[in-house]
Amino acid sequence: MALLLGCIADDFTGATDLAALLARSGLPVSLRIGIPQDRRDPNEMAAFEVIALKCRTSPVDIAVNQARQALAWLKDAGASRFFWKYCSTFDSTAEGNIGPVAEMLLIETGATQTIYCPAFPENGRSIFMGHLFVGEQLLSESPMKDHPLTPMRDSSLMRLLTPQVNGVVGLANRNVVSKGTAALKARLEQLSSDGIRHVIVDAVSDDDLRTIAAASFDMPLVTGGSAIAGQLPQFYMEQGLVSLSEHRQALPKITGGSIVLSGSCSAMTRKQVANYAGKVTSLRLDPIALAEEGPGTALEWLRQQSPEAPKLIYATAEPNEVRQAQERLGQGKAGKVVEDALSEIARTAFDCGTRRFVVAGGETSGAITQALGAAHLTIGPEIAPGVPWTFTTLGGETVALALKSGNFGKETFFTDAFDRLETA
Ligand code: ADP
Repeated sequence: MALLLGCIADDFTGATDLAALLARSGLPVSLRIGIPQDRRDPNEMAAFEVIALKCRTSPVDIAVNQARQALAWLKDAGASRFFWKYCSTFDSTAEGNIGPVAEMLLIETGATQTIYCPAFPENGRSIFMGHLFVGEQLLSESPMKDHPLTPMRDSSLMRLLTPQVNGVVGLANRNVVSKGTAALKARLEQLSSDGIRHVIVDAVSDDDLRTIAAASFDMPLVTGGSAIAGQLPQFYMEQGLVSLSEHRQALPKITGGSIVLSGSCSAMTRKQVANYAGKVTSLRLDPIALAEEGPGTALEWLRQQSPEAPKLIYATAEPNEVRQAQERLGQGKAGKVVEDALSEIARTAFDCGTRRFVVAGGETSGAITQALGAAHLTIGPEIAPGVPWTFTTLGGETVALALKSGNFGKETFFTDAFDRLETA
């Protein structure tokens, strides 16, 4: 089918979040991890193609170069509208990479103007008078001020974006957005006639996002968080560019064995693991034992289980236990032995007939998808906001993968996930 929107995301879990919000439309969404190497047959494209890069904190030239390659692939695949996805907290360094990538995309797509709208009201991210809020706090007063890689010490999106781009950064503020689509379009045109190519747009509610999407869905380039992207599909449908009855995403039925693999030690994952461990057979991994003996015992345990029985293997531990392992092994090595062990366990589980995998942990998900060789995912039903089931083909077999970073989902996430797959 025709590719409606080619999307480039600056990290992996951001890409799955974007894909999940686009998939709420019921239209097909596909996610490719890294710049795709395969052929691009425009007839085999989904309505929405998302390319997940890992460039949020890369040097500017590397980020721009990766995004340029992703754009070239999407253009060859038939895209004529593009979306540049970054975090709803505008995570970026002083130099970029949000602005430099947007600037390159403007030039390469021939667009004269783009909007910046990271707002995600459902998750408490709103923009008012160009200032970004996390809940009721300014971004610069939220925990993001202490982020280890991208500390956000200013809340003014105009001040944050200005050093990242050439030219003036404009604002379409809430007063304009609240007046509706025609008023917003007029404001964008006025800014455009003043030569302003980069426009921050205020949004504090989903209604605002709908107004913004109505004013921008046919722009060659839109930039922002997943929430504004999630509003675009309805306008493509209203314009008759695609029909849900003809193109609704068909989902495979996956019946093979199931496993939960958890390498996340975040507070919510700890509750989820405790909840699920009380329901199914489980095995706990100890990083110190793994460093000394490798994952052989865990692999043996796995092979002895019935392939059909649901099971849980986890390294999830309380902060004091994590600290002990890190003091013994070093932080990097403690993380790596767990990621390597879970990767090998995932491969063995696949060989033993497992076809439904739930993975907890952002880094852990990256390690396991890579180990399984999953590079192209089709997006399925959403389990929790921003966490969809995905489907991929491995060795000719269709496999379902749910990839959850730390604090996503409710306490019953793991059972919720399998229930969702049954009812999809
Ligand atoms: P989250 O999404 O919750 O941040 P990640 O998978 O991104 O989870 O990061 C968790 C990191 O902690 C991974 O590198 C993982 O290998 C490591 N880890 C998991 N369990 C332990 C443990 N018991 N001790 C030390 N490190 C651990």
